Amino acid sequence: QRQIKLIKRPKGTPTYEDFELVEGPIGEPSAGEILVRTVYISVDPYLRGRMNEGKSYIPPFGLNEVISSGVIGQVVESRSERFAKGDVVLGSLGWQEYSVVKDSSVRKVDQHLAPASAYLSVLGMTGLTAYFGLLDIGKPKEGETVVVSGAAGAVGSTVGQIAKIKGARVVGIAGSDEKVKFLVDELGFDAAINYNTEDVATALREACPNGIDVYFENVGGKIGDAVFPLLNNFARIPVCGAISGYNNAEGDVGPRVQSYLIKTSSLMQGFTVGNYGSRFGEGARELAGWLKEGKLKYEETITEGFDHTIDAFLDLFKGANLGKALVKVAEI
Ligand code: NDP
Repeated sequence: QRQIKLIKRPKGTPTYEDFELVEGPIGEPSAGEILVRTVYISVDPYLRGRMNEGKSYIPPFGLNEVISSGVIGQVVESRSERFAKGDVVLGSLGWQEYSVVKDSSVRKVDQHLAPASAYLSVLGMTGLTAYFGLLDIGKPKEGETVVVSGAAGAVGSTVGQIAKIKGARVVGIAGSDEKVKFLVDELGFDAAINYNTEDVATALREACPNGIDVYFENVGGKIGDAVFPLLNNFARIPVCGAISGYNNAEGDVGPRVQSYLIKTSSLMQGFTVGNYGSRFGEGARELAGWLKEGKLKYEETITEGFDHTIDAFLDLFKGANLGKALVKVAEI
């Protein structure tokens, strides 16, 4: 079977030379294990951090090891009582066509509720990130203004819609006119800004006449900087991601934010979705409810073929995806 390994720690923006596509053994399941055929692979910005050495909230990938991420797969052979051949499962699995895993390391997904791929996006990690970051830290109230960056991506598009459900005015920041149109026309954002063609500070002042109460930070850098001068008193800033700096070889220095936080008594808090592990059930139920009621939409950008997994990952940093970026490896 084909597998993708990390063979070099990327310096700056990752390139194809940092990865290797190899042939490897499939393996046989022992008692309590299952053989899973990979169907969808989730490619995510946070994987870039795992390619660096050093301490973080999650250990780095080992060199010459198969990369792993969220995967939807189908059981093709079971030596477990918990799974039957044909079951569709979710787990953190390798970038390879088949995986032999312990039955306790994956869970079944309910395809009646939504197609399997949704468990890698709106009903999975990115949906839960949006849900807990926005509601637990951002705490938007009716009539408040919520700004979200990376707005047309997996997390950002869900954040904006949840904020709308909570009755906020929602302004998204994204990288193309197509994305801006999608946010306003399809997802019901009140306004959206193309940071590649507009002056973000000026556009934000226009789009947020009452200031900003919640800034859901997905990208950092200059876009984040433009938000601080517009914060209202007691604003909340869930810091979810800073993708604009993930490929910086050197540390990033921008305007200092302390004085803005002091002047407005604002709260800025970083988080990882893993902090909310004990409440995933609650989040997943609520997201599924909104999905069923038609209040929450989700979009996917699907790259076809295992061979294109690295392309799909590198595309994240070029903004090629609308909604969740996934690789489709096989049919269910
Ligand atoms: P997205 O679906 O949002 O994909 C990444 C997007 O980031 C691209 O489509 C692109 O959109 C944008 N982007 C890329 N480079 C830049 C740049 N230099 N400046 C501004 N925007 C850029 O990914 P996710 O929804 O999975 O993740 C969004 C953020 O949330 C990431 O920062 C990620 O690391 C973080 N995250 C954090 C988690 C946590 O637990 N804290 C969990 C999951 C994600 P565009 O065209 O608009 O530029």
